[in-house]
Amino acid sequence: MNNTLGFNSLCAKELAENRTTRPHALPIYATSSFDFETIQQGIDVFLGKEEGHIYGRFGNPTIDTTARKLAQLESFGQDFEAKAYLFSSGMAAISGVLLGLLKAGDKILTQGNIYGGTTGLMTEILQPLGIEAVYTDLRNAVKVEQILYNNPSIKMVYLETPANPTLACVDIAVISAISHEYKKLVVVDNTFATPYLQQPLALGADFVVHSTTKYLNGHGNSIAGAVVGRDMDAMENKIWKTLKLLGGNCNAWDAWLTYNGMKTLALRMRQHSLNAMQVARTLAAHDKVEKVNYIGLDTHPDHELAKRQMRDFGGMLSFELKGGLEAGKAFMDKLRFCTLAPTLGDVDTLILHPASMSHIGVAKEVREANGITDGLIRISVGIENVEDILVDIMTALS
Ligand SMILES: *Cc1c(COP(=O)(O)O)cnc(C)c1O
Repeated sequence: MNNTLGFNSLCAKELAENRTTRPHALPIYATSSFDFETIQQGIDVFLGKEEGHIYGRFGNPTIDTTARKLAQLESFGQDFEAKAYLFSSGMAAISGVLLGLLKAGDKILTQGNIYGGTTGLMTEILQPLGIEAVYTDLRNAVKVEQILYNNPSIKMVYLETPANPTLACVDIAVISAISHEYKKLVVVDNTFATPYLQQPLALGADFVVHSTTKYLNGHGNSIAGAVVGRDMDAMENKIWKTLKLLGGNCNAWDAWLTYNGMKTLALRMRQHSLNAMQVARTLAAHDKVEKVNYIGLDTHPDHELAKRQMRDFGGMLSFELKGGLEAGKAFMDKLRFCTLAPTLGDVDTLILHPASMSHIGVAKEVREANGITDGLIRISVGIENVEDILVDIMTALS
């Protein structure tokens, strides 16, 4: 055919791949669409009679394989199967699950200390659309039951555990049982724990959302999110439809980075947990530290609950410095090894001073009502040699 085509055509024509054996590692499918051998195949794939990819916004082999790995992890060891869809960010996944499952007039029961972006989504985007959030302390099961009993328009209970910045935990099994009694859906943001530490679906939740940007990727080089669920009908119709029509799909490159990150999830989470426990114990014994929030310490109010519903305690902790705002800023400036960054879950240790960084625009009373005092420091403990982390923190404290 080369003999008969013009030069421009040779340049533009897509060639068939000349691969002979299967690639061992998942390839990055950088293609916006898929083509069909025959018109009949096209019809069958469009009708869902034949499995096949159609258009990149609906998924592709890189994206779907990554989603499948995450679904396997969230249902590991269970007698049910899960399904996952990847989104362009954690926020896209959260908007996908909320807009996919709720309509005007519905309400969401949630807690005050969820991710700031999620609260923003509920108040600034969903509320004007007629979907209202009701806030309560989800650790108070009696209160939760009362609210659900009195509010038939609540359709969903949305929670995050452990939650920023005090690592407060919610009992997923208890909240799921109460919610199901009143026929409410339960959605859990499992970003902090990952399926290695906690499996919300196994504890009764209906849907899990992730910012895979954090621990699942683990290397701080992609932004993506996911919705995982065990109700195939809801996943394949409501969630996938919302993903397709809102267009918040993940791209192949970020999916591929996430896929690679997940290969070492268990190793990383074990080391994060080991290191964080040592950092927490050392901080707790320091005289310039007022208080340490780490669920691995038996001084944390949710330690027993965390022990029950999690495999280990993870890499996130926060602590309060004596000396407030100035002490907090001085501490941050003296760090040489740990990095000041407003993310979490990377292999290296990241430190945040909410009062002067993430929450600088939030009124002091509002911050403090959510446990964010002037001297509060949040640490995402990395997997480095723990001695190097400790020396840096001790030096910055002195
Ligand atoms: C970061 C984060 C999100 C938002 O995820 P993005 O990937 O940044 O959109 C949601 N929930 C939690 C708990 C987070 O830490």
